[in-house]
Amino acid sequence: MSNDKYLEFLECAKGLYKQGLDLLDPEKEDVSILSGCILLTIGLEKIIKHILESRNPLMILEKVTFKDVIDVGKGLRVGNRQTVSLRTAFERLTNLFPQLEQEKRHVLKIIKDRNFLVHQAGYFNITKIEGRVRVNITDISEQICLRCIDKKPEEIFVEGIWDKMTSYREAYRGAEVLKLNKRIAFLKRIYSQGEKLPCEQIKLSEKLDKVEYECPICGNMAEIDLEVGEGDWREGVAGDVWPYLSAFKCGICGFTLSDPDEIEALVSEETARELLYPGYGEEY
Ligand SMILES: [Zn+2]
Repeated sequence: MSNDKYLEFLECAKGLYKQGLDLLDPEKEDVSILSGCILLTIGLEKIIKHILESRNPLMILEKVTFKDVIDVGKGLRVGNRQTVSLRTAFERLTNLFPQLEQEKRHVLKIIKDRNFLVHQAGYFNITKIEGRVRVNITDISEQICLRCIDKKPEEIFVEGIWDKMTSYREAYRGAEVLKLNKRIAFLKRIYSQGEKLPCEQIKLSEKLDKVEYECPICGNMAEIDLEVGEGDWREGVAGDVWPYLSAFKCGICGFTLSDPDEIEALVSEETARELLYPGYGEEY
């Protein structure tokens, strides 16, 4: 009949990760790095849709008609139709796999970076974007493989792809912590000499909930803003909350952090999860 091929979500995703990582070669120009980030993000979206689709093809559709229900009942596919956004797809995935709820902040960062790369122009820090996209995609892909596909990521992403992803993640995280520790050591010295800390002046929000954490400079209890992400309430799904730690401020010494990645580097990934989802840890 025709030479058209059917585009499978999972096969396509694996190809996109591979191509994306090739483009993320540090020797290459900026556009190559940005393209690599975009391909990885599209790949992730395809994996999420693959899992939803394999549960029930209706789960990926933006609008479901009666005919769709009949077709799926007959075992037909619902290809070439408008599917849901990455955010909605992940929200649906967390309805199926509630433990993934705790990973939402990674997806939120991926969506923000994707929106910049795909829709916007402006000043950006390419190293920061590349690092964030790679680390967040690695984190979330790992959780999805383990929890939703019940396989180790290296069984899904073969040909050294997973090695490339994890070794970068370790290096990036290590460098972030090192950078932060250096700054903290410097600020502690200044503080002990009785000088004012040269930290960004930030004001915590009056509307947001707060969590407490020990200040690394003076040892007093500092406050962290708990942001719930940009709302997308179209679906009205209960539990559609996307929390992350958005700003850190010590009222005693004046130490502040306004980058969510740095706050997470300070408190550690595990503590961030406990602060965001108290009591959730037991079943995790
Ligand atoms: Zn302090």
